[in-house]
Amino acid sequence: MSAGSRFTITVYGFTITVHVLTLGGVEVMRNQPTRQTRREFLQACFTVPAIFTFAAYGGPEAIAQTQALQPTPACAEDNDVTPSNAEGPYFKPKSPERASLLEPGIQGTKLIVAGYVLSTDCKPIARALMDFWHADDDGVYDNTGYKLRGHQFTDGEGRYRLETIVPGLYPGRTRHIHVKVQAPNKPVLTTQLYFPGEPHNSTDFIFRPELLMKVQDAGDGKGATFNFVLDI
Ligand code: FE
Repeated sequence: MSAGSRFTITVYGFTITVHVLTLGGVEVMRNQPTRQTRREFLQACFTVPAIFTFAAYGGPEAIAQTQALQPTPACAEDNDVTPSNAEGPYFKPKSPERASLLEPGIQGTKLIVAGYVLSTDCKPIARALMDFWHADDDGVYDNTGYKLRGHQFTDGEGRYRLETIVPGLYPGRTRHIHVKVQAPNKPVLTTQLYFPGEPHNSTDFIFRPELLMKVQDAGDGKGATFNFVLDI
């Protein structure tokens, strides 16, 4: 026998219907989209637990813990492919494999970015290559070494987690992180991630709102989420 109830909550403009199911005396919660695009639903899946987790623990490390507890995301639509975005002049191949770009001497506000890499039919993509690079706290790229550059692979459930700092600004651009994403034996998506609320978002002609991360303050750092949908 089972019993249940439902209520809705709105977080950052996303309305989520929360179903509370009771199965054999054990309470189970399940979220379902209400008139949402798949992207909105996916973002809501990450945003809600992240907020709760920050409230409980107050640190960006909690993002990774939260991610580890998330079920595979459900999808209702098959669109919203993550758009490509300019590579820029500072990409360097052969970055080191590492999920954390933090190292001695790195200054700045700690940032954790986490999420899924998915196909258009919403299947998580395991072992997708993700190569990140961005400017340091002063807006400067390391073009001689590999500071703030690194690649990693999604896990068996299509998840990634990047530990780094918030990039600084440099002339002509709003705040951004560069990334290349490639499913095994598939084409490379070159794109960028952006931060909401940045004054230069509205004047940077490369900026695309579809590439905005969800960003939360978390203790002395920030936690961000973004799900990539590859056109495969
Ligand atoms: Fe750049």
